[in-house]
Amino acid sequence: MPHTPAYAAQSADKPLGPHTIERRAPGAHDVAIDIKFCGVCHSDLHTARDEWGGTKYPCVPGHEIVGTVTAVGEDVKGFKVGDTVGVGCMVDSCGHCDPCKAGEENYCENGFTGTYDGVLPDGSHTFGGYSTNIVVDQRFVLRIPHKDKLAAVAPLLCAGITTYSPLRHWKTGPGKKVGITGLGGLGHMGVKLAHAMGAHVVLFTTSPGKVADGKRLGADEVVISKDPVQMAKHAASFDFILDTVSAPHDLNVYLKLLSLNGTLCLVGAPPVSTPHPSPAVFNLSTNRRQLAGSNIGGIRETQEMLDFCAAHGIVCDIETIAMRDVNKAYERMLKNDVKYRFVIDMQSLKDEAKAA
Ligand code: NAP
Ligand code: ZN
Repeated sequence: MPHTPAYAAQSADKPLGPHTIERRAPGAHDVAIDIKFCGVCHSDLHTARDEWGGTKYPCVPGHEIVGTVTAVGEDVKGFKVGDTVGVGCMVDSCGHCDPCKAGEENYCENGFTGTYDGVLPDGSHTFGGYSTNIVVDQRFVLRIPHKDKLAAVAPLLCAGITTYSPLRHWKTGPGKKVGITGLGGLGHMGVKLAHAMGAHVVLFTTSPGKVADGKRLGADEVVISKDPVQMAKHAASFDFILDTVSAPHDLNVYLKLLSLNGTLCLVGAPPVSTPHPSPAVFNLSTNRRQLAGSNIGGIRETQEMLDFCAAHGIVCDIETIAMRDVNKAYERMLKNDVKYRFVIDMQSLKDEAKAA
């Protein structure tokens, strides 16, 4: 589909603005999707501003995509025109390495192709969901089981799976004490999912104004992480803490809260120019604690997460915005002022393109 309206950053120091991209014509295995909504992930901001290094421009972010199938290739099984579908952070992987064969394409040994900023065989790069349509190989298209609230489902495609996968891997469930740090897009999904899995959930936030929301979303307790007295009450008591914070901070304060064999798992990824200070060895060796990381989730697990959320009535808490307001949304995200995910209504971009 040539001439697809999109929003792109042309360089790290420029705001996003209107841009036209070309989508490939759907091949035999492809699904063409009219994009209805796209969530705004903090990774979009990190990438558009080249905070992780190596961003390819023009950069069209967006990897929390939901929409309607408009065409399918002749070998596509399981999707038909009119279906409601989703696309997350990946659009391709090698398919033959051990992680791919195990359904963990997110750990593909040859590197998965990101929905945006991913390298294609011809040396060009992928464009994400801040656009009116996308063409994706059927292996990377998800079924959306939710009946309604489509805008609020979109962020499950990244914020949902990025928290669901480590919570499952570290066996969150009844009898487990689980911490979630940061109440943003990922953090609020972490709270909802850990609660639905049956754990005792403690939210750590720097924002006193988010305490009531934290409890409403499913936290059994909310701790202001800047208050050492509140933090000390939880010393050496957690099985697992999932750190979703997007900025550098002291990891020692969370390591000290882990009980024997407890794990602090990082999913938040600060700019490479301002990494987390290295934590003290004694905060790891005490209680044989582990510091870990996790990267999104595989396609099979993403479908499992979508089905889990539909079964438990879980969607994201969102604020819908027009495409032209995405730069303002980025600034608000940097002030921790998002409740709890911005989602772009792509009709706004379709209308803008029609009027131009
Ligand atoms: P977000 O909506 O902006 O939320 C981040 C939250 O972190 C804020 O709301 C705030 O919560 C807390 N925070 C921000 N600055 C802080 C600071 N200086 N000190 C302590 N807390 C601070 O971001 P997001 O979209 O959830 O993404 C979070 C991070 O995860 C980003 O770095 C993103 O790139 C990364 N990410 C990783 C993966 C992966 O696969 N590993 C996938 C997606 C995203 P409070 O106000 O509650 O303190
Ligand atoms: Zn994301």
